[in-house]
Amino acid sequence: MAHVKPYVADAQVQASVNYPGELVEDWHDKAISRMGELLGKYRSLRVFMDACVHCGACTDKCHYFIGTADPKNMPVARQELMRSVYRRYFTLPGKLVPGLVGAKDLTKEVLDDWFSYFHQCSECRRCSVFCPYGIDTAEVTMAAREILNTVGYGMKYTNQILAKVQKIGNNLGLPGPALEDTLSGLEEDIEMDTGVSVKMPIDVQGAEVLLVTPSADFFSEPHVESLIGYAKVFHQAGISWTLSSHASEAGNFGLFNGNYEQMRNIAMRIRQAALDLGVKRIIVGECGHAWRVAYAFWNTLTGIGAGGDDPFSIQLQKQLDPRYRQPMHICEFTHDLIKRGALNLDKEANDHRIVTYHDSCNVARASRMGDMPGGQFIIPREIIKAVANNFVDMPMDTIGERTFCCGGGGGVLTDDLLEVRVKGALPRMEALNQVKENNKVNFMATICAICKAQFTKVLPFYGFDMSMVGGVHQLVSDAIQLGTKE
Ligand code: SF4
Ligand code: SF4
Repeated sequence: MAHVKPYVADAQVQASVNYPGELVEDWHDKAISRMGELLGKYRSLRVFMDACVHCGACTDKCHYFIGTADPKNMPVARQELMRSVYRRYFTLPGKLVPGLVGAKDLTKEVLDDWFSYFHQCSECRRCSVFCPYGIDTAEVTMAAREILNTVGYGMKYTNQILAKVQKIGNNLGLPGPALEDTLSGLEEDIEMDTGVSVKMPIDVQGAEVLLVTPSADFFSEPHVESLIGYAKVFHQAGISWTLSSHASEAGNFGLFNGNYEQMRNIAMRIRQAALDLGVKRIIVGECGHAWRVAYAFWNTLTGIGAGGDDPFSIQLQKQLDPRYRQPMHICEFTHDLIKRGALNLDKEANDHRIVTYHDSCNVARASRMGDMPGGQFIIPREIIKAVANNFVDMPMDTIGERTFCCGGGGGVLTDDLLEVRVKGALPRMEALNQVKENNKVNFMATICAICKAQFTKVLPFYGFDMSMVGGVHQLVSDAIQLGTKE
């Protein structure tokens, strides 16, 4: 297969994210030492190394294995890349009789396999749903990537993006003035379309809401349609909001590297922007892994001192009306407004569409949304049903926590890995084809920027029109009737 191995990050990129510029001379010892540190720090990792009974329940659950038929893409085989090294250096039988217990020396060949196969895992966690021991391959992948980075063998795509967001504030490297221009262009577009002046505010002191959204929302189709949708919702609800030029990115690729320091640095930009602007709450736009970081990590990333009025404080969240609890997902926000009848929606505006929904992994499997059980499943679907007359779910074994990854998550969204991406999309494309054939579905909504970018690229490989993917707030945007509930 071509395009199965991403480019290695060059010295400049590595240095910008505080890793060695190239594979260090004593890489073997450094890798084992870092592995030992991670095993000591993360008890779950050691449990995952020890607990597998090779039952095989996970083998055919990974979209990359289904799509590529490469046995090394079976989740258990991916874990085994690290587990065999773990046995060799961290268990007595592995030290004494390595050949008998499947223990392996960490050779350069093994390290190359790590680089290749731990970058063919989107950290989607589907396999863990089927593992009777709850072994999470995503955490193994994150640990492996952290070890690779530590010895100077990092991935170009992910680390380049990390460098940009830490320096400029977003994954695209879009500076503040360019962002302002883009936003004012969008305001003109909305006014031309609707006759209503809907604002796209940035750096507004004292706004009630800080919206952090994936930077793809600022300029590329179909993402920008969702941004327009958010703006229309805020406008009709009469809630003051702002974007921030300092924190103009919701995405946080630190999660993909398994590096909590990087994750923290990016999250802290958002916290700082919220403090500087004096907002009351932070709302996260349509981005799967950003929501996972916000939901699962923001409270702890700030450190022990976070409390009181700190925008990431769990104490503050507990004091707030659940409706305004933070972090809040844009879908929770819109859903609440719909339930309260605060939005004027014309479902017929979406009658040209037969809509299905793709659950994004990081929302469906790794985070909650709203207070109701299963909210992350229910909320986006209830929004779609409130703004469109025709909704069809995909086959049961491909929705909710059993959803298939789009094939581009976890830092795999690079053309270096195009073949892997196309093949990894196979199970989702088959499910989509089923509802297209049976129900004439012509629009697949999702709430993740990576899913949108990945599908736009791979849909044509499966004979679909790339324009059939879009955000949930694209549907909201088309249904909302401005000027009538203000
Ligand atoms: S891509 Fe998903 S299903 Fe495949 S091994 Fe990684 S976490 Fe498991
Ligand atoms: S399902 Fe769990 S225990 Fe079974 S082979 Fe996979 S990782 Fe191992």
